[in-house]
Amino acid sequence: MSVPAFEYRRRKILIPQPRSRFLLVICSNCGNTQVVFSHATFPVRCQSCGYQLVRPTGGKAEILGKVERVMA
Ligand SMILES: [Zn+2]
Repeated sequence: MSVPAFEYRRRKILIPQPRSRFLLVICSNCGNTQVVFSHATFPVRCQSCGYQLVRPTGGKAEILGKVERVMA
């Protein structure tokens, strides 16, 4: 099954390389900002109050706090 060239190019854009990122997350409990790994394999807790900010899953971690921005 052949894929048209334009379709292939579009997919290359839509499906990014598996690349992890660092996220600036705001603790929804105390408002403290903290940098966390987007693919953390362990629970990340707020350094200020201990509230769990990231819950590890099979792949990309689930961010429980508010993501302020994505670090480059
Ligand atoms: Zn906190």
